[in-house]
Amino acid sequence: MPTPHRKGHTLLLVERIVDLLADGPTLSFEFFPPTDEVAAKQLDDTLDELAGLSPSFVSVTCGVGGDGHDRTHDIVTGICRDRPFPAMAHLTCVGHTRQGVAALLDDYASAGVVNILALAGDPPDGSAISGDFRYASELVEVVRAHPADFSVGVAAHPEVHPRSVDRDSDRQFLAAKLSQADFAITQFFFDPADYVQLCNELADLGCRRPVIPGVMPVIWPKSIRRFADMNGSTVPEALFARLESLLASDRITAAAESAAELSQSLLDAGAPGIHLYTLNRSEASIQIAEQLSL
Ligand code: FAD
Repeated sequence: MPTPHRKGHTLLLVERIVDLLADGPTLSFEFFPPTDEVAAKQLDDTLDELAGLSPSFVSVTCGVGGDGHDRTHDIVTGICRDRPFPAMAHLTCVGHTRQGVAALLDDYASAGVVNILALAGDPPDGSAISGDFRYASELVEVVRAHPADFSVGVAAHPEVHPRSVDRDSDRQFLAAKLSQADFAITQFFFDPADYVQLCNELADLGCRRPVIPGVMPVIWPKSIRRFADMNGSTVPEALFARLESLLASDRITAAAESAAELSQSLLDAGAPGIHLYTLNRSEASIQIAEQLSL
C-alpha cells in the first residue's frame, strides 16, 4: 500500500516514487502491456497475486511509436484507478513529437498518474531516429516542465549502454540526465559489483540520486539470454547452464533463489529498493520477496 501520511486533518497516500524512496527501501514490479485477451487475464491474475506483497509501486513498459503509448496508458490508468498501489508509466520519446508527448502527459495528469519513467526507447530494427527527440534527457526536461509535478525516473545501465561511445561519457550523460530527474532504475545485471561501481562512478561525478537496481529472475533462460545480448548485460554461464538443465517448476524456484541472493546483496550494499522484472508472472517475484529483508 502507498504509505499513509497525516497532513493537518487529512490522510494523504504517498504515491510519488521520490517520496516513497525517502521513506525507506521500496519493492516494485515491472510489467509489459499484454497483446491479447489471454495475456490480459494473465496480467490481471499476476496483479492480484502480487497485491498481497503490498508493492511500493509497479511500472508498465511501453513500445516505441505506433500504439505503444496507448496500451501503456490504458494499463497504467487502470491500475492507478483500481489497485491500492501506484503505477508508473514508462514513456519513450524517440519517434514521437513534443506535441504528442505533451498531450499524453496531460492525459496522465488528469487520470491521477504521478510517476513517469522517461526513456529514449529503441528505434525499431535500428531504423533512423525520427520525431522531435533523440535522448531521454530531452524528455526529462519536457516532463519536468509539465505543471503536474510528476515524479520522474530514468534508465541506467550498470554495464554501460550498448550505444555509448565509452564508459566515461556514458556516466557523464547519465549523471547529467539524473540530475534533472528524481531517481533511476537499472537495466538487469547479475554481478552486484557492477551496481556498486555504477553508484561510485555517479558519486564521483557529484550525483547522489537514488538508483534502484532492476533484478531479472532467470525463469526463461533462452529469452533472457537474448534480452541480455541486446542490452549488453553479461550472462553468468554457470547459472544459466544450471537453470537451462532444470524442469520448468524447479527452474522458477532456483531462479528466485539466485535473484533473491543478488537482491539481498544489493540491499546490503545500500540499494534504495529492488525493482523486479516479472515478465508478467508472479511465482518467482513472490518467492524472492519472501526471502528478502524488506
Ligand atoms: P539515453 O539516456 O538517451 O541514452 C542512450 C544512449 O545515448 C547512451 O549511450 C547515452 O550515453 C547516450 N547519450 C545520452 N545523452 C547523450 C547526448 N547528449 N549526446 C550523446 N550521447 C548521449 N525501452 C522501451 O522501448 N520501452 C520501455 O518501456 C523501456 N523500459 C526500460 C526500463 C528500464 C528500467 C531500462 C533500464 C530500460 C528500458 N528501456 C525501455 C530500454 C531503453 O529505452 C533503451 O536502453 C534505450 O536504448 C536507451 O534508453 P535511455 O533512456 O537509457 O536513453
